[in-house]
Amino acid sequence: TAKAGPSQLRFFNNQMNETIKRRLKLNLAISQAINKRQFEVYYQPKVDVNQKRIHSFEALLRWQNNELGKISPAEFIPIAEESGQIIELGKYCFSQAIQQAKRWQKISGRAINVAINLSPVQFNDPGLLPFIKMELDKHQVPAELIEIEITEGVLMNENPAVSHRIDELKQMGCLLAMDDFGTGYSSLSYLRRYPFDVIKIDKEFIEDIEIDESNQHLVKSTQALGRAFNSIVVAEGVESKSQLNFLRLIQCDLIQGYYFSPAVPAEQAEKLLKNSDEL
Ligand code: C2E
Ligand code: CA
Ligand code: CA
Ligand code: CA
Repeated sequence: TAKAGPSQLRFFNNQMNETIKRRLKLNLAISQAINKRQFEVYYQPKVDVNQKRIHSFEALLRWQNNELGKISPAEFIPIAEESGQIIELGKYCFSQAIQQAKRWQKISGRAINVAINLSPVQFNDPGLLPFIKMELDKHQVPAELIEIEITEGVLMNENPAVSHRIDELKQMGCLLAMDDFGTGYSSLSYLRRYPFDVIKIDKEFIEDIEIDESNQHLVKSTQALGRAFNSIVVAEGVESKSQLNFLRLIQCDLIQGYYFSPAVPAEQAEKLLKNSDEL
């Protein structure tokens, strides 16, 4: 095996320093941004292709910082997870999102769910359920409008407190969605163990769905699985007409992706909803 020479080590150290510096910087900036309300919640529609209208929305955090520019959730969520700042940030997102769901119902006269992503750290927080209950009560939002999206990461450690929280959320009336379905190792066993209302097929499987036969089989099977388990199936990351056509062919329930719309600010989401209902 080749040993790293001194220059390679120096390179490695510099890289590491840069990574650590960036993390520290963002960590500090996140705290300031929370206080200054710099985070915004955007909403991406999930479209019912058969009924030709918006079925629901997913809430996604966005952050534009004066000095650092636009920072992707893929970068700041893991940092906020590690530092625990995700608890505060998640509460803000939840509160915004449920109030928005209430407005959508008012505008459209029908129930429009909002899906909210909850990370492992959020799910391990004993304050999660009391917060959700208090917030729904405070804003008079029915739990049935709330969909909680979790990934395998939440379920992985077999923490009894986490299972208990999932049961409690379901008992309250919240819907439960499995996010990034198919990317983990144990998706199937979790489907059997937990009462998922929604299965979200990861965009990795949708990307080349028009040509990749194994992905076609996977997506088709997931759709059948959804039927068997009485769960709604959502295809994520749909960007093109040809992807849409395939998903239509196999009668996938809901479609989410840039083909219809990226995540947009609340005001724009309301416009999308109004237009969708006029069709
Ligand atoms: P996710 O929950 O799997 O969200 C889907 C991601 O795919 C979003 O990225 C969305 O903007 C993006 N996307 C949607 N349609 C398309 C498409 O057609 N093509 C492509 N290439 N991408 C598409 P985003 O908003 O950057 O979020 C990344 C991840 O950050 C999310 O993945 C989620 O895990 C996390 N995240 C975002 N907001 C929150 C939040 O409020 N709380 C928590 N805990 N995590 C969040
Ligand atoms: Ca999600
Ligand atoms: Ca996802
Ligand atoms: Ca993801």
